[in-house]
Amino acid sequence: MDALTYPVWHDSAIQQTAFGTAPAHAEVDVAIVGAGLSGLWTAYYLSSAEPSLRIAILEARHVGFGASGRNGGWCSGYFPLTVSELASVYGRDAALLAYQESFATLPEVEQVLRREGIECGWHQGGTVQSASTALQAERLQSLLKQQHANGLGAGDAEWLPSSRVSEHISVAETHGAIYSRHCATLNPFQLVNGLARVLDQRGVTIWQNTAVQAIDNGVVTHSHGRVVAKQVVQATEGYSHSIAQTKRRIVPLYSLMVATEPLNQATLQAIGWHNRATFNDGGQMVIYAQLTPDGRIAFGGRGAPYHFASRVRERFDLDDQTHRRIVSAIAQHFPAAAQARITHRWGGPLAVPRDWTPTVMLDRAQKYARLGGYVGDGVAATNLFSRALVDLILERDTSLTHLPFVNHRSPRWELEPLRFLGVNSLIALSESIDNYETSHHKVPKLRTKIFEALL
Ligand SMILES: Cc1cc2nc3c(=O)[nH]c(=O)nc-3n(C[C@H](O)[C@H](O)[C@H](O)COP(=O)(O)OP(=O)(O)OC[C@H]3O[C@@H](n4cnc5c(N)ncnc54)[C@H](O)[C@@H]3O)c2cc1C
Repeated sequence: MDALTYPVWHDSAIQQTAFGTAPAHAEVDVAIVGAGLSGLWTAYYLSSAEPSLRIAILEARHVGFGASGRNGGWCSGYFPLTVSELASVYGRDAALLAYQESFATLPEVEQVLRREGIECGWHQGGTVQSASTALQAERLQSLLKQQHANGLGAGDAEWLPSSRVSEHISVAETHGAIYSRHCATLNPFQLVNGLARVLDQRGVTIWQNTAVQAIDNGVVTHSHGRVVAKQVVQATEGYSHSIAQTKRRIVPLYSLMVATEPLNQATLQAIGWHNRATFNDGGQMVIYAQLTPDGRIAFGGRGAPYHFASRVRERFDLDDQTHRRIVSAIAQHFPAAAQARITHRWGGPLAVPRDWTPTVMLDRAQKYARLGGYVGDGVAATNLFSRALVDLILERDTSLTHLPFVNHRSPRWELEPLRFLGVNSLIALSESIDNYETSHHKVPKLRTKIFEALL
């Protein structure tokens, strides 16, 4: 595939601040490992609340190197678990609180962007989850019913019959869709660099090319020496397997993306993407798309292989087969764009906990805190979880410190080779269930049972 192999977001006008590496020895109040959105938002809210704190961020590569600088740019109020899934574990009130706080995160992010003058193309056009088959329509309608039964209102999420989906977007085949206003789009690389600039101006230290090897009772050992801190925050998401505290706590799953050239007027008109709502469908295999401000389709999908022993390597960001599948999904949903040139392709790891439930935790005795495990929904959640973590660190009793994710401990993933077999079976099954449903118009019962048992 003849395309540039880095995120399309990197091509926008971006003011990147140059940061050095860590010295051999340093002492700070708070050391944050990872300069993605989790680390940056944590530093942002901590330095807002306590400007005198000495805060340092240690980053193995550069600001926004991880998922935060290369994601699909959906700032979505939805978690990887639905409100009914959360309610079945934590009760209806806790589930609803989590969703209300998550929905309220969008205006919070927008306000910070305005206050700090961070230009990242923020646009809240909502989200459309379209049913590509009649079976998907049944499932999505039942999902919506459960969401409403657990406290979400019609103003949060509503059903659009197929005749109304084109008010937002014209997809080749739709059997109706869920529309929700709780989603915005942005350029993630501009966001991380904007936040880093604000932090730098505030006096927060950012060290790049500084890989952390171990965290032990306030001592952070890294590639150039040691940092001693009163509090350490681990914000390493898809890369967490290499740190002792989070070994087997997550698996890195790869999500891959492509971007088309800016579409011409005729194609844009045919797709009728009126208010640039984000788009996905109701298949088992996750796909996601946004229309960028300059008229490109940025389209992503999971389904790339999981690598033995939770390995993360740069070469895994590109997978021809998965990228080809994403390109054909563009043609499937938007035939008018089938001939559009693919200008960029890329990918990266996201973190999946064993129970699909993200965590924000603080162990004051060990001077250790952690946030993450957002699966593929971290852009808004990093902001919410950072605010919760700052409240925990500063011993503030707020609604955020009562979120069901606070001090949640996901079970560990299985040892290899079970992990490798299980995760890759899940990936293969989700694709095969979608294919079967599309061609046979019914659910493959055995495969679905195995799929659910593996989850
Ligand atoms: C292709 C793709 C598309 C996605 N699309 C969306 C989307 O549209 N919407 C959405 O909500 N979510 C999306 N996600 C998920 C979302 O991007 C993440 O959940 C979120 O960015 C996580 O932020 P983070 O700061 O916790 O982790 P990251 O952004 O991954 O940051 C972790 C940082 O830690 C650094 N690090 C790791 N180990 C060490 C170490 N030992 N020492 C020092 N530094 C270290 C890494 O270099 C990295 O910069 C997507 C993810 C991917 C990969």
